Amino acid sequence: MSGGASEVPVRESWEGLLGVRAASGRPARLGIMGGTFDPIHNGHLVTAQQAMDDLGLDLVLFMPAGSPAFKQGRHVSSAEDRFAMTLLATADNPGFVASRLEIEREGITYTADTLKELRRRLPEGVELYFITGADAIIDIVSWHDAGTIATMATLVGATRPGYDLEWAKAAIDGSGIGFDVRYLEVPALAISSSYLRERASSGQSIRYLTKDSVIGYIEKHGLYAQAGEEAAPWGEGAS
Ligand code: ATP
Ligand code: MG
Repeated sequence: MSGGASEVPVRESWEGLLGVRAASGRPARLGIMGGTFDPIHNGHLVTAQQAMDDLGLDLVLFMPAGSPAFKQGRHVSSAEDRFAMTLLATADNPGFVASRLEIEREGITYTADTLKELRRRLPEGVELYFITGADAIIDIVSWHDAGTIATMATLVGATRPGYDLEWAKAAIDGSGIGFDVRYLEVPALAISSSYLRERASSGQSIRYLTKDSVIGYIEKHGLYAQAGEEAAPWGEGAS
């Protein structure tokens, strides 16, 4: 079985975004939801939808990281499998686009490089919104080239059960980097990819935690069939 994106229709185009922009007469607003997406789940989807609604985004790009900087040394499903699941999960929402940008770049994936590449490819004036959950935004101040991230995009810090957005605010404020941040209240889903992997590997259902199409892909390809790490529902590794 070949797997990967060849099984699902690819739908990546900037035309929709540019069309929206031309029609509306205001700058287009593009959301970027980065992650490992191993697998993508309803917490990611609801966060992106809330950001679209609250911030008036025209599109959200879901961007699986090619080689995630924070997951070096642990087993991560192949980029093609993670992309295929992202494609399946986003296919029925015209505002969501699965992007291959990061999985096609060599080396460790850094958000600053992604934003620079988007800036190069997109017309002048498109506003970029980089969407993260409360856990990730706490760390963002120490990310590679954080100053570049701050100049290129507005950060969107979403609430996530198990993580305190106040810590994130303190970290951002204390960093001395001039981040433009919007904080976003998201319907609480105390789930994580780690939790889904753990459930799948122990034969428990992950129904209603992610899309049925994603579950079908996981089953067909035997992803997470082997026992992995223990995980608390809200995050990586039980701790
Ligand atoms: P893992 O357990 O493997 O770390 P994860 O569920 O944290 O997986 P990631 O791919 O690491 O998923 O996260 C991608 C982005 O989605 C991050 O910015 C993360 O904060 C955010 N996110 C993930 N799950 C949720 C959730 N339940 N609610 C809000 N944001 C979330
Ligand atoms: Mg995570």
